[in-house]
Amino acid sequence: MRDLERARERMVETHIAGRGVRDRALLDAMRTVPRERFVDAGMAEFAYEDSPLPIGAGQTISQPYIVALMIEAAGVAAGDRVLEVGAGSGYAAAVMSRIAGHVHAIERHASLTEAAQRRFDALGYDNIELRTGDGSRGWPEAAPFDAILVAAGAPEPPRALREQLAIGGRLVVPVGEDATGQRLRRITRVGEDDYEEEDLGGVRFVPLIGEQGWAEDGSRAASNHGAGQARGRSLPQRIAEAAEPLPAPDAPAFAAAFDRFADCRVVLLGECSHGTSEFYRARDAVTRRLVEQHGFRFVAVEADWPDAAAVNRHVRHLSQPADAAPVFRRFPTWMWRNAEAAALVDWLRARNRGRDAARQAGFYGLDIYNMGASIAAVLAYLDEVDPGSAEVARERYGCLTPWQNDPATYGRAVLREGYRKCEQAVVRQCRDLLQSRLQYAAADGERFLDAAQSARLVASAERYYRVMYYGGAESWNLRDTHMFETLEHLLHAHGDDAKAVVWAHNSHIGDARHTEMGAARDELNIGQLCRERFGEAAALIGFGTHAGTVAAASHWGGDMQVKRVRPSHRDSVERLCHDAGVPRCLLDLRAGRHEALRRALLPPRLERFIGVIYRPETELQSHYAQVSLPQQFDAYVWFDETRAVTALGPQHPRPGAPETFPFGV
Ligand code: SAM
Repeated sequence: MRDLERARERMVETHIAGRGVRDRALLDAMRTVPRERFVDAGMAEFAYEDSPLPIGAGQTISQPYIVALMIEAAGVAAGDRVLEVGAGSGYAAAVMSRIAGHVHAIERHASLTEAAQRRFDALGYDNIELRTGDGSRGWPEAAPFDAILVAAGAPEPPRALREQLAIGGRLVVPVGEDATGQRLRRITRVGEDDYEEEDLGGVRFVPLIGEQGWAEDGSRAASNHGAGQARGRSLPQRIAEAAEPLPAPDAPAFAAAFDRFADCRVVLLGECSHGTSEFYRARDAVTRRLVEQHGFRFVAVEADWPDAAAVNRHVRHLSQPADAAPVFRRFPTWMWRNAEAAALVDWLRARNRGRDAARQAGFYGLDIYNMGASIAAVLAYLDEVDPGSAEVARERYGCLTPWQNDPATYGRAVLREGYRKCEQAVVRQCRDLLQSRLQYAAADGERFLDAAQSARLVASAERYYRVMYYGGAESWNLRDTHMFETLEHLLHAHGDDAKAVVWAHNSHIGDARHTEMGAARDELNIGQLCRERFGEAAALIGFGTHAGTVAAASHWGGDMQVKRVRPSHRDSVERLCHDAGVPRCLLDLRAGRHEALRRALLPPRLERFIGVIYRPETELQSHYAQVSLPQQFDAYVWFDETRAVTALGPQHPRPGAPETFPFGV
């Protein structure tokens, strides 16, 4: 119990007050209402993560920050009469009941209304009146209201709700022309027929289904047809003007466009999927140029340290230990065992031939903890002792990515008793694995880890594996912090002014503070840490695409498939770039370049994140997150249409090369 209270306090501090909510009465109310009582029993462990969670009838309890944002925006105050439309679990109504005089709440699903009423009764919250019905028509008998909050997205602000506001009353409602993404609007009634409207930013709610909302089939309900929203000025047009068209990645002019970043200490090159050929080829071209012409000393990639260390020995013409294990043979093999990555390895090896060590370019992995092997070990162990828990673990490893926003995932990934029982054994196994890998690293010709660093890693391993096992922000933060520390050690080991290229997913290299990850979930990443450490000497370069194909699996450990990438969502940054009509380009987003465009791109918009898992069927929830593009990246590289990487399976040795070359080293 105390754990949940602590978690609640932390949620209020971090996710609510930490994100700028100042209303003291609201913060106190959120400290008081036990959110765990508003979710299913099995879901209590997630109650204080800042996420929506399933509550039955296909609906969700809103993310706590959004609840707070809406209540603050509506200016709910002592003595107010409040209406909530879309009561769901009853949580938001409960919070408001601790502040306001009287709360009316309407929910269209009777099963949810009944469950919410039971919760209010059990908690003794007796100033809430709840009913089942169509809230888009409001609650005329109880009007006027000082504040009306709508927890579902409407095509337009329902007329009935505007009319049920008291003079001075505030209506806060998500409004959007498609049923999935909206802008949060505050409408204040300033006179009998006068209303003022403000835009409070992008949000995502389930649709408001009813007479003055959407029809069940997703079309507009009959009585709500009205004038559409005025269109803004054309952003795609402005993007097209600022875009610097690029040739194909293998043309020399492609990489030359990136010379502007040559004076940086670190150039971080992203990707919006782990299986897109163009992103590898583009990063390869830029890396070669930075190494060859601008003195960059190594490339550090989002891969396990031991596997990358074998490749590093290969490109430096060093001998491999006799007992070296095959590399990049674990899921997701295609991420590094592909023809595009092999091309860079070939080039590095050819370039390094005959040079002394100090003038060679290196190849390193940033995941010092040997993550892939650890996850594989956990899954193999659980498959044997508790297959049910193995299934849960697969789900967690596959889906609790920082951009994941699919409440159903939580439903599938709730911890079972057996899972906890296995924890000690699993953590021990991972620690042993790490220890043996560290001995291995210490035996490397290239001394990277000193004894003190190794000891520190071993000491924190247990904590790391435990939180990795449980998923969530803490494991992400530990991982990215270690990736950053690894990068710092590598820079240090290569000399005081050594320069590096980093290859990692957009979610690692785009500044997390300007994405939902950081803003909503308190997650940081290597891009943010590089900016904090190196300032303008760090270049964060994101990559994006509209459509095409991608190599990805449907679940952790699943087979690689070439999947079709759905055309980008209409509210996404990708769609803006697609509509700009430039097939390949570089957008320089740094301050002072294209200021008007930069400002126009600042408000949060959706961006797509595809990892090693791609689930097109739940794409919006599973793969899109809000970002402020010009703050997330210094530059954005656009390929309108992209293709899957060419995977090199162990059964497909590269033509003309020894069977194990270069990844079987
Ligand atoms: N505020 C709620 C909470 O904290 O649990 C979450 C609400 S959920 C995001 C939105 C709810 O709106 C769903 O439960 C859905 O059934 C309900 N809803 C949708 N259209 C409605 C309508 N016309 N009238 C009443 N409820 C509606």
